[in-house]
Amino acid sequence: MILILAPNTTTDSAEFKQLEAFLDGMPDIRHRIHQESGEQQLLTEVYLIGDTAALSTDEMRNLPGVERVVRISEEYRVLGRHKDDQRPTWFEYNGVRFGQDTLHVFAGLCAVNTPQHVEAMMQALQAHGQVCTRMGAYKPRTSPYSFQGHGKACLPYVFELAGKYGIKVVAMEITHEDHVDEIVTALEQTGNPTGVMLQIGTRNTQNFELLKSVGRQQRFPVLLKRGFGITLEESLNAAEYLASEGNRNVVFGLRGMKTNMGDPHRNFVDFAHVPVVKRLTRMPVCIDPSHSVGTRERAPDGLLDVMHVTAQGVIAGANMILVDFHPEPAKALVDGPQALTLDELPGFLEDVRIAREAYEKRTQLAASGNA
Ligand code: PEP
Ligand code: MN
Repeated sequence: MILILAPNTTTDSAEFKQLEAFLDGMPDIRHRIHQESGEQQLLTEVYLIGDTAALSTDEMRNLPGVERVVRISEEYRVLGRHKDDQRPTWFEYNGVRFGQDTLHVFAGLCAVNTPQHVEAMMQALQAHGQVCTRMGAYKPRTSPYSFQGHGKACLPYVFELAGKYGIKVVAMEITHEDHVDEIVTALEQTGNPTGVMLQIGTRNTQNFELLKSVGRQQRFPVLLKRGFGITLEESLNAAEYLASEGNRNVVFGLRGMKTNMGDPHRNFVDFAHVPVVKRLTRMPVCIDPSHSVGTRERAPDGLLDVMHVTAQGVIAGANMILVDFHPEPAKALVDGPQALTLDELPGFLEDVRIAREAYEKRTQLAASGNA
């Protein structure tokens, strides 16, 4: 059971103290406090753990400071959307809002190769009004002989260039908890010119020790990719690992499933699950059309398959798009064949805008009771 307190109820207020005294006196019930400070207000939730089935929701609603009561199901306790659960579904990071109602494009390099490529990418993003990007420094590769990413050596110039071109959030995969410290060090060294969203890739979705350590830090939000060979439920539980350790600023990423059923795409595109994840949880949902499709094949209608599936995800309500671009795909160190080029960026963004507008019209139609 979750007690949602009236906005701006601080833990040193008289009401909170009365509430806590009451909860301390309840047999077999423990409680845990979660606080989130947004720009406008402080939100406090009290999680009751133990034998809550016997508690009356009406009685709990009348306790000091309590505004609403939500009875939680066993699954996805923190990130789940429980019965009659209308809690706000957003967080803000470095001035950018992430929610189930927003949409951000993270176009960028699958793997950083040269400072020149990074700069060309950032420059193009700024020219087209973008404040987010993706930059891979630590690459988990199938073969130990493949390029593993430039690692911490590239972080200072990536962050400096991000700051120079007004990029506020860089999505960056990490494969070990030490990488978080390396990112923190590089950000400090360069004067915190930008923000980072830690990405946990599909190969690490169930690396529980990594999830726990990333969940314990609350400085960076996390993009957790769905595991490519496990069920959706297993991947959502992986997200819950992050939240149960304290970090609730989690975006859930769909990136296609490993099955030959999806050939000739690299993975079987799973963007039909965008609304499912939004129904089951309160996480914003990201789609990764590049790693799903994996090629630059074009349909007879003239559109790239990557653009088709992007539009399919956006029209279904996706909140974030992680997409590979490269100034010179032939020179890309990882995943060049799926990268879009910088001159395709404006067309890509326009296509996203069209699909988003269609999604918004669809939700208006549903709200009017006509769909
Ligand atoms: C990536 O985004 O660069 C990546 C490796 O993705 P995934 O973990 O989905 O394969
Ligand atoms: Mn890649």
